[in-house]
Amino acid sequence: MAMSRLISLPALPYAEDALAPVVSARTVALHYGKHHRTYVENLNRLIDGTELEGHSLEEIMAMTADHADKTEIFNNAAQTWNHDFYWRSLSPHGGGRPQGELADRVESTFGSYDGFRKAFAKAAQSQFGSGWVWLVEDSGALTVVKTGNAELPRARGQRPLATVDVWEHAYYLDYYNRRVDYVDSVLEKLLDWTFVLENLAEDKNLSLFGEKAHAA
Ligand code: FE
Repeated sequence: MAMSRLISLPALPYAEDALAPVVSARTVALHYGKHHRTYVENLNRLIDGTELEGHSLEEIMAMTADHADKTEIFNNAAQTWNHDFYWRSLSPHGGGRPQGELADRVESTFGSYDGFRKAFAKAAQSQFGSGWVWLVEDSGALTVVKTGNAELPRARGQRPLATVDVWEHAYYLDYYNRRVDYVDSVLEKLLDWTFVLENLAEDKNLSLFGEKAHAA
């Protein structure tokens, strides 16, 4: 049997009930099993039989970003990437304060760990409609940014370190309209600082979008 030339849905890195009660098993089942899966299925339907088939997810994003006739493909590819990054930003063993050097960087950037939590909450509150809140490294400095819909910081030359999905499907069943409560609980109980450290150590994060973003 030929190897698939399409994109596969990455496995969830923990059980569906592992994030409860902060994010319920019901929310994860719907969010991963329906929303995330649908982005992957839509993407595969759109690239099947085209010149994009056989390319990696990151290549597909780079090849379709800023192409007006490929917006639907880019949006589904970016949402596929963003959701995988979101699941890996959370851990049932996460939460709490960062340690060591990372703690120093968070404190010097945001004034304190609480200042970091407030910056994240403010970004979540002020994102009008669907989107994402991110901890990124931009020109060597930590910062919190928000993006709308499927937009991602790498297209701006920023290195993503962690993200929280603020589309309503991420929290509505558990928090109704209380987006900030959801985001702050996720930071307090689930944010995986080990994942942040891995991304800080990663060299390839900017490779595909970096050149274009800096030329813009
Ligand atoms: Fe989502």
